[in-house]
Amino acid sequence: MSNPVRLRVGIGYDFHPFQEDRPLFLGGVDIPHPRGLRGHSDADAALHAVADALLGAAGLGDIGTQFPDTDPRYKDISSLSLLDRVAAALRHRGCQVVNVDLVIIAEEPLIKPHVAAMKANLARVLHLDIDDVGVKATTMEGKGVIGRREGIAVQAVALIHQTGAP
Ligand code: MG
Repeated sequence: MSNPVRLRVGIGYDFHPFQEDRPLFLGGVDIPHPRGLRGHSDADAALHAVADALLGAAGLGDIGTQFPDTDPRYKDISSLSLLDRVAAALRHRGCQVVNVDLVIIAEEPLIKPHVAAMKANLARVLHLDIDDVGVKATTMEGKGVIGRREGIAVQAVALIHQTGAP
């Protein structure tokens, strides 16, 4: 039976290890830091987690199938551009984003000074009000792979409203 309310939720998760001599992009913000994240694109784990949450909610698979890391077109590409394409794919399916919420799990750098800029980036690309974008951060209290400062993980959820025909 189809969902009469047509509200759909999606979850996303991403992890990227740190790499020396790479810029650090998180939430579309170029954060001054000695290390960036390793990945085929700009490795923005926050935007990747949000993209996966949106794609999951819309039944469109995941970022790995939409933008394969074997495709040279996506080498070092800005993840804001990938998220913009995800947003366009959702609109094409008649899906409107209601809100997104994410938590960045990182021992370093300090995320708080960059939260406002991250929220502004997400709101702009997803056509949302700032209040419909949640960005939070926590640490692993020194434990595990993140606690050892080996990388950054991000969890995201997204709610979408399907207003048109798929
Ligand atoms: Mg990723």
